[in-house]
Amino acid sequence: MVTLRLFALCACLLFTSVVAQDPLVKYWVHESCLARPAMVEAIDEAILMARLAASRMRNINRDLDILKAFRRVFLTELYPRGTQPYPERQAWDRVHWIMANIGAARKYERMSDANTHIYCDDQDRWARLPTEGAMWFDTTPAYRVNVNGMTLPLFRDAGKPHCKMMVEGDTERIDDENHFETYGVTYNLEAGAERYYGSWLSIITVCGPMCDAEITTLGADRTRDWTRFPLTYNLDDDSDVDVDDDDFTTFGNGEIQGYASVLVLHEFTHAGAFRTDDIEPAYGWRNIIRKPAQDALNNGENYGYFGALALLGAMGFKLSDNPAEAIEGRLVRAR
Ligand SMILES: [Zn+2]
Repeated sequence: MVTLRLFALCACLLFTSVVAQDPLVKYWVHESCLARPAMVEAIDEAILMARLAASRMRNINRDLDILKAFRRVFLTELYPRGTQPYPERQAWDRVHWIMANIGAARKYERMSDANTHIYCDDQDRWARLPTEGAMWFDTTPAYRVNVNGMTLPLFRDAGKPHCKMMVEGDTERIDDENHFETYGVTYNLEAGAERYYGSWLSIITVCGPMCDAEITTLGADRTRDWTRFPLTYNLDDDSDVDVDDDDFTTFGNGEIQGYASVLVLHEFTHAGAFRTDDIEPAYGWRNIIRKPAQDALNNGENYGYFGALALLGAMGFKLSDNPAEAIEGRLVRAR
């Protein structure tokens, strides 16, 4: 009895020291997001999805739905020939660690107190480096350091910033692998720059037109019957709907990738503490569930979908128990 009680106490102390006391993710929200209440809701829901995913994972013995979702999203049966299956416990620990820490993210009013800064300005603050025309940099004064009398930008990029890709008639920056507009981007301090800054720092930007979306959360869309919208649902493919790229109401219309909250969760996992990547083909349900576990665990979009499934579960929907239907992302009523 004593032993049991001691163990419970120790486990509790361990948990609070890891998650509750000093959050790993300290975020600050730029006024460009504060001016858009729907984007503030999206950030809140991204954190909620992570918190729900982590808490449901801690109840995995009683929550078979989240266990099935976890296995479907992260532990696909596709292993390269001759290799061992990825250890489930290791995968579980990594996903839980990332989700628990994003779920415990704390908001700070002062930019200098935070290590994750969120913007909804389409990277308008970026400009060309005057000395090197092909390089662009973040002009925010706080992201410039003085090194040996020279002012150097902490965040730079070769070519136009990602939010500005694929503007009509603009061929300066076309990402060869992503022939579509970028809706969100995260920059992390390079290891060398962390020395000058004193810690890691990540800058998340939500790109327009996602910034101006009217529906940004699954919660705002709570009357939707998700049994009619599989996770593979793509608005562009739906011939019944007239899609106009400039129509912001097309976001958050049953297409999981079209919710800003899912995007923000995806971007949070790219942040300096976690550093997931985009492993091509990175997006879409069919692509994320066909990755070897090692890649699935390092692909930001897998966490976006897993978070969405955790929240959809709380809204009364789950992946179909029928494996063939689950592969197609078919959702059914959870009870
Ligand atoms: Zn990404």
